[in-house]
Amino acid sequence: MDEVKQLEEKEKKLEDIRKESEDKKCPVQRMLYYMEQFIAGPMCSRCFPCSLGTAEAKIRLEKISTHADNTNIKDVETIKRIGSMMIEGSFCKKGKDTGKFIIDLINSSEEEFRNHISGICSSTECIALIEYFIDPELCTMCGKCLEVCKEKAILGEKKRPFQTGYLPFEIRKKRCTRCGECIKVCPTGAIRINILQPEFVEK
Ligand code: SF4
Ligand code: SF4
Ligand code: SF4
Repeated sequence: MDEVKQLEEKEKKLEDIRKESEDKKCPVQRMLYYMEQFIAGPMCSRCFPCSLGTAEAKIRLEKISTHADNTNIKDVETIKRIGSMMIEGSFCKKGKDTGKFIIDLINSSEEEFRNHISGICSSTECIALIEYFIDPELCTMCGKCLEVCKEKAILGEKKRPFQTGYLPFEIRKKRCTRCGECIKVCPTGAIRINILQPEFVEK
């Protein structure tokens, strides 16, 4: 394959990454996904503003998405500055477009970035900032969630005819990886996601 064709394929991939990232409702997760895919794919490391900038942006986004110690608004400002530096100093369109992507997303989602700095992900996609729980009022003890949970994070006893004194269904927070498999199979909507208050986010 000639060089021009190879470059065209890479350009197409950048556009694919952008489209795929739109599946994420949370802007922090969207940008993190884009960075991870860009670094793993079309980013060639030939110039510093792009290679160092995306690496640093990824680290800061991971920090924000987990509400790590000392996360603060300066992390968002730094990511935005990285975006500007990439637009100015990147050698090629891929780096410049990525810088523009960063700035546009922060500008259009300022409030959500600020909420993350307070430890809140309202889209419930930052798994460190949420917890799963079972509403006992809606749980019919069918046991479907128990079958799909690979982490053995669910306690409970499936309902059987003529039996009393059941162990109610409950999610053990320490074991739960927030994979979301149980929600998909629950027929009654008894499994819910709770947005953690910042003081309860584990670091
Ligand atoms: S801006 Fe272009 S040349 Fe520079 S590292 Fe990024 S992809 Fe490579
Ligand atoms: S979210 Fe995943 S790990 Fe947590 S209880 Fe449901 S299936 Fe188990
Ligand atoms: S799948 Fe839903 S209804 Fe069935 S046991 Fe689990 S929480 Fe209860």
